[in-house]
Amino acid sequence: MEKITDINTLTNHVTIPELPEGNYPLNPPIYQAVKFSWENYDDLKAMMRGEKQGYFYTRYANPTVHALESLLANIQGRESCVVTASGLAAVTTCFLALLQQGDHVILFIESYRPSRVFAREWLPRYGIDYSLLSISDMAGLKKAIIPGKTKMILFESPTNPQLKIADVAQITALARQHGAATVMDNTFASFHNHGTFDVDLYLHSLTKYASGHGDAMGGAIIGSGPWIAKVKSAALAMGSNLDPNSAYLLLRGMKTFQLRYQRQSENAQRLAEWLQRQPQVKRVIYPGLSSHPQHALARQQMRDFGTMIMMEIKGSGLDLETLIKKLRIFKLAASLGSTESMIAPVMMFYGSDLSPNELQQADFNESCLRISVGIEDPTVLIADFSQALTTLPT
Ligand SMILES: *Cc1c(COP(=O)(O)O)cnc(C)c1O
Repeated sequence: MEKITDINTLTNHVTIPELPEGNYPLNPPIYQAVKFSWENYDDLKAMMRGEKQGYFYTRYANPTVHALESLLANIQGRESCVVTASGLAAVTTCFLALLQQGDHVILFIESYRPSRVFAREWLPRYGIDYSLLSISDMAGLKKAIIPGKTKMILFESPTNPQLKIADVAQITALARQHGAATVMDNTFASFHNHGTFDVDLYLHSLTKYASGHGDAMGGAIIGSGPWIAKVKSAALAMGSNLDPNSAYLLLRGMKTFQLRYQRQSENAQRLAEWLQRQPQVKRVIYPGLSSHPQHALARQQMRDFGTMIMMEIKGSGLDLETLIKKLRIFKLAASLGSTESMIAPVMMFYGSDLSPNELQQADFNESCLRISVGIEDPTVLIADFSQALTTLPT
């Protein structure tokens, strides 16, 4: 062919430099490409027959996204991973991958609110039944399992926002006995925790600790090869895939994941111990406190106790408003896992769909505050609470 001089042809057929063997970037490149082309038609045919590995279209697979999936599977201690556009997409992908008309699923009052809302408002449309129990009610769980019908149990530990600890060994053993799959939303405890348990699938909102900087959304489902193959086919059918640019941001966040989580956990422990001694505070719930009703179980199950605290003040909901308005360093915002400290009024953010009876089991009220502890100097965090608590009733 003659040398091409047409500008539109040249600008649309850029040569991508091939790297010399053994010479590679230290950060994963962002393959911001939807389509992957083949020089050789026979190679494409072989890929379509499943005889050759390759990339075709980013909804199916993308190298940057793959890098993230391999990393996450590895640190959670499992074979495979599928990432999704958000944590909630991971939740809904699991529901629709594992359940069909006539099935029954069990989940808990102490869980991420949108997961409960999905079960209540959407699953019945597809003829799928659910039971909503308290994570403290293991006897109830035994009774709620319908042999042959209960196909999935979705649970969290520590729970949001009241930080109850699920008895993972007991839940997984019961599920195994009755042929139900266990799906553990492991967002709060994160990738380095709970990997040794007999859990079928782990879920994560990558928006939290993987991003770490509150600038990217994503979700992950992690498990054995066969489980992930099942989940992946549902993810493909629904198009819940993650964009490569977000995958890159999440990979970048992961570089400091463990450092951030450790520092935030240490800060949380220190702040929780201090808060517990303040006369304006009725109770502090943090799994790392020996006063936590399930501290021993947390110690058994987790390597560290997380970055989240729930506290209840002695004063009313109005007093809680005063406290929130006076805090300077702690930002009023939903979410967690970011480097900056945040606060969230528990009833307003997490209780709106619960009945009075369910709220009682959920164990929080108008005087409760959820605290997401960041990486700031712990003395600064304590000083902020110290000035904000002063006018509250003791
Ligand atoms: C945030 C969160 C989710 C949902 O994740 P998004 O990325 O916000 O969609 C699911 N489960 C838990 C426990 C969460 O904290």
